[in-house]
Amino acid sequence: MAPLSTVATSCDVAIVGGGPAGSAAALALRRHAPDLGVALFEAGTYDCYRAGEIVASTAGAIFSELSVLSAIGEAGFPSLPTVRAAWERPQALEEHALFSARGSGWIVERSYFDQLLSSLAAERGASVAVGCRVATLARSSKGWLLRLRGGARCEARFLILATGRDWGLIRNLGGRLQVSDRLVGRVRVLRGDEGADRGLMIEAAEDGWWYSAPIGRGVRVMAWMTDADLSDPSDEADWAMALAKTQLMREMAKSVGACAHAALFPAMTTRMRSAAGAGWVAAGDVAAAFDPLSAQGVTKALRAGLFAAYAAADALAGRAEACDRFAFLVERECEAYAKAYRAAYQSVYRWPESPFWSRRAQ
Ligand SMILES: Cc1cc2nc3c(=O)[nH]c(=O)nc-3n(C[C@H](O)[C@H](O)[C@H](O)COP(=O)(O)OP(=O)(O)OC[C@H]3O[C@@H](n4cnc5c(N)ncnc54)[C@H](O)[C@@H]3O)c2cc1C
Repeated sequence: MAPLSTVATSCDVAIVGGGPAGSAAALALRRHAPDLGVALFEAGTYDCYRAGEIVASTAGAIFSELSVLSAIGEAGFPSLPTVRAAWERPQALEEHALFSARGSGWIVERSYFDQLLSSLAAERGASVAVGCRVATLARSSKGWLLRLRGGARCEARFLILATGRDWGLIRNLGGRLQVSDRLVGRVRVLRGDEGADRGLMIEAAEDGWWYSAPIGRGVRVMAWMTDADLSDPSDEADWAMALAKTQLMREMAKSVGACAHAALFPAMTTRMRSAAGAGWVAAGDVAAAFDPLSAQGVTKALRAGLFAAYAAADALAGRAEACDRFAFLVERECEAYAKAYRAAYQSVYRWPESPFWSRRAQ
């Protein structure tokens, strides 16, 4: 992978955030608008566990558009052969990707996947700075002034905000956030999954829903998605009690090894009131974050990054309506998601008294 360390002081398009949305934007700009100087700033260093390992098969078309399909293939991410879901009924239904026209999608180790995409952007000429947090954004005579933690600065003509579920910078854009629920993900990374062919499992339970996915090298992720006020992340007994109310997960937990890492992730549905303004667009989760049940977050972020790149190039070429068009696309995506979200949750009638499910029944 290309070294990721250049800190630009000036560029045409600054991208804040090197997750799927930010890297897709950088890759698309390098491909479709090679005359524009692109600088990407990533706060992390891709060495911690990142949630979101199922990449839907629909991402394949975007990988092609970004010219990264062969690199994804070479990385050897396993495909997802089977999904076992106990959702509307306690009995698990099995679905084989073999019977899906689009194929199976991928299971990725997210920190590696995210680093791969930003490295490819660097290889193709974007200036990529990792471990480099943008502290503030302000309008300047050129367009934008980014102040980085540590004191460095960068000026840009256009800004793509792609900071995921870190909304600290949206107030610098005058943006406002709408939050629809209190979903959190309590995630455990478990060792000792060697040799098992259990695929992805999803299970509805009284206090939320669970998923578990193998992420390779004998490691499996298990997550309990519940509301922040219904579980205490520091309480081991809380986890054990909720697990005891499951079937698939409880059985599976008996045959895997120790917990190597535990983390809590915000997972609520949110959206910015507008995903674009003069000289900027917001792409990926920062603009609209969906419930992980959709398993579309990564694909949606990649697509948003691609469209953000088109909007940036168009806006810099004098087509100011490009930003409004981008905001409209995000709006439409949120409307489609809201319908699918309601249908998915309202198909579960098994625990009418449970706060988790009754909140979602309206
Ligand atoms: C528990 C859980 C499970 C999930 N499972 C799935 C799944 O199976 N499949 C799926 O498709 N989606 C899943 N998702 C959703 C998916 O992870 C996200 O939708 C996706 O990561 C969004 O990509 P993004 O690029 O918008 O944001 P992110 O991936 O969050 O990337 C944002 C980047 O911005 C950086 N950043 C933040 N602030 C700054 C700053 N000020 N300066 C510089 N850099 C900054 C961060 O370090 C990060 O690298 C899951 C989410 C959760 C919470």
